[in-house]
Amino acid sequence: MTPTFLGMPARAPRGVGHLRGDEPFPAAAKKALDNPQLRRNLQHATTTIRGKSGGVIAELPDWQELRSAGSALKAYTMANLPRLLEQLERNVTAAGGVVHWAADAEEANRIVTDLVRATGEQRVIKVKSMATQEIGLNEALEEAGITPVETDLAELIVQLGDDKPSHILVPAIHRNRSEIREIFLRAMPGVDPALTDDPPVLAGAARRYLRETFLQTRVAVSGANFGVAETGTLAVVESEGNGRMCLTLPETLITVMGIEKVVPAWQDLEVFLQLLPRASTGERMNPYTSMWTGVTPGDGPQNFHLVLLDNGRTAVLADEVGRQALHCIRCSACLNVCPVYERTGGHAYGSVYPGPIGAVLSPQLTGVEDNASLPYASSLCGACFDACPVKIDIPSILVHLRNQAPHPRAERTAMAAAAYTMDHPRLYERAQRAAKLSRILGRRGRGLPPPLNGWAASRDLPEPPEESFRDWWRGR
Ligand code: SF4
Repeated sequence: MTPTFLGMPARAPRGVGHLRGDEPFPAAAKKALDNPQLRRNLQHATTTIRGKSGGVIAELPDWQELRSAGSALKAYTMANLPRLLEQLERNVTAAGGVVHWAADAEEANRIVTDLVRATGEQRVIKVKSMATQEIGLNEALEEAGITPVETDLAELIVQLGDDKPSHILVPAIHRNRSEIREIFLRAMPGVDPALTDDPPVLAGAARRYLRETFLQTRVAVSGANFGVAETGTLAVVESEGNGRMCLTLPETLITVMGIEKVVPAWQDLEVFLQLLPRASTGERMNPYTSMWTGVTPGDGPQNFHLVLLDNGRTAVLADEVGRQALHCIRCSACLNVCPVYERTGGHAYGSVYPGPIGAVLSPQLTGVEDNASLPYASSLCGACFDACPVKIDIPSILVHLRNQAPHPRAERTAMAAAAYTMDHPRLYERAQRAAKLSRILGRRGRGLPPPLNGWAASRDLPEPPEESFRDWWRGR
């Protein structure tokens, strides 16, 4: 029995799901930086997507107005979340679906596992979904003897390679084609041993394997990009058509949706379906946009379940500054422009949400103490803010979270001493004179006492001026 219920601002529980890494960001990033192949792959992929996206965004004269509309719609949604979720529940139920409320990852995994068990099936096909990765659904299903099969090509590569996704949109961005060939030869059932690393050949092998699986599996699990409160309609956007197969062929469809994905009205999709493809894949519209409302007799899945997932989201909503992170539509534009992401890659962030959005979302879902180094995984250059199609001010949230993160004792003491000094003019003057003295004693940290010399060893310490403002003023 879970000790919380949906609506209580509880954090995502430990020991389940993928929101916490095994080591802090600086340690994981150092390993990633030692991998030149990874950096080459990332640089090539992010540069290509950035170029494509920039081109199609420039075609729209009202892009900034669209961004403002997306931002306003999300702010309205967050301010009215309980009412909109209940409206969504009513409309999904009226259309023949069943709605389940999951307070956290454990409860969501239990609900989905029980639903699959009830069908008597031992295999499910999956549409790419960040929410199910967040809660570790594949592991929970496997533990229950149910085989999940990822059907998005990149997710399939990650799954067969026993690997972790490293990008929201391109989960296998860290793999090149010869690595993918090796993974297919090793783990894909029935693959041709003469497989080459030609991309169309690799895609053909995956298609043959997946077609067979689509036709033989009777339960599908998906996420949702949007859930329309007004009509009870769910929407999934994707590029390969695998989602369309999963959403139409099986008898039972189970959708796991984060509670922040609700939108008030059908018309609001007009804004988001323009913003999302241009900011994410650099396309004018999504190749496949699937929408369904409950159950339609004789057409598509005849059993539909919607699992509404909290898992820390209510706690994020309770934070007036941090709640903007819930506006995210998972386009990944912020990853593709981030200089830190481009060099370190997705795995360094430890969570399924990498890059700038991961640096603000994961610590809030888990509690900052569990992901204390992530708010520092940024140069605060602001490129993420400029790129975000719903105008999330990521740099401000990063600074806000840095203030909440537990600081090392030495840093806390140094900051307290600096604050005290600045509060006392005479002391401050004496400190200025001492700083001048340190200039004579040495540079690059040698003039600072431990542990501050460590900080200055890799940074240029600003040189104190010959004459301070106070001395200059006194002289006049
Ligand atoms: S924070 Fe903005 S740019 Fe980043 S993934 Fe979310 S919507 Fe896209």
